[in-house]
Amino acid sequence: MAQIIDGRAIARGIQKEVKEEIEGLKRRWGIVPGLGVVLVGDDPASHLYVRNKEKACKEVGIQSDEHLLPALVSEKELLALIHNLNRKKEIHGILVQLPLPAHIQAEKILQAVSPQKDVDGFHPVNQGLLLLGAQGLRPCTPMGIMRLIDSVGCDPKGKNAVVVGRSNIVGKPVALMLLERHATVTLCHSRTAHLKDEVARGEILVVAVGKAGLVRGDWVRPGAVVIDVGSNRIPGGKFVGDVEFESAKERASWISPVPGGVGPMTICMLLFNTLRAAKESLQREG
Ligand code: NDP
Repeated sequence: MAQIIDGRAIARGIQKEVKEEIEGLKRRWGIVPGLGVVLVGDDPASHLYVRNKEKACKEVGIQSDEHLLPALVSEKELLALIHNLNRKKEIHGILVQLPLPAHIQAEKILQAVSPQKDVDGFHPVNQGLLLLGAQGLRPCTPMGIMRLIDSVGCDPKGKNAVVVGRSNIVGKPVALMLLERHATVTLCHSRTAHLKDEVARGEILVVAVGKAGLVRGDWVRPGAVVIDVGSNRIPGGKFVGDVEFESAKERASWISPVPGGVGPMTICMLLFNTLRAAKESLQREG
């Protein structure tokens, strides 16, 4: 029977460290890390995410600067706002809440964010640095996943790691992070021929697809560390992951629940990245 990876408790611990470091920055250098938050339109889920992120910022002492724009805002106006935030000294990180309305090219907006302020780690420069195994701001969810794996004392070195899902924000970057830590990585997707067989080889299994219960519990390798990234609302309003939790728990050694696993880590890594961007701006100023 697996032990449960308590993402909320792990996130709280990291958040406490971030808060203490921010207090130190304020005391020593008079710097308050600032996060520019850009939200376009009135999608209720996006508003909820932004509210949660801002609440977390407040708790650790990050100053958030919110920009709510109407759904009909033009790409040009949005780009002007990003350029303005790029120039502001008191803003160390910029978060553009996705999805953006269809008439706006999200890629163009994300590429306009200064790589040094790209606390989501989505800018091609930062994605490229990750590919090269170099320093750069890294995407929050994959960083959170790596922290969860570390939290159970699992060293990826030499292990078979299977990642299901190859999105640019979760699957691909987490596969690169596992590779960097010397795991032997298999990256699965919708065209993978024998998903069950691939999953069964994973000593570390990360699933980020967005389909409730896609990975059956009896596919899981006995003793595997299972990180379920999926967040799927089912009839009745409950959220469940991409892995059949109850049956997977019978085989895994550790498993992250949904909710309460990866979700809290993503927000916590956003705070971590904002602090990091603030420290690096201080270093650049010498
Ligand atoms: P995307 O929709 O961008 O990517 C989904 C991936 O799953 C694709 O690579 C797709 O393959 C693959 N896939 C789809 N169907 C299958 C299948 N039957 N078998 C194998 N692979 C399949 O999703 P995201 O990466 O953005 O998100 C994945 C999930 O994680 C979602 O539930 C999302 O809500 C959640 N999430 C949670 C976060 C958190 O903080 N808790 C943060 C980010 C995401 P292909 O490329 O071939 O189409």
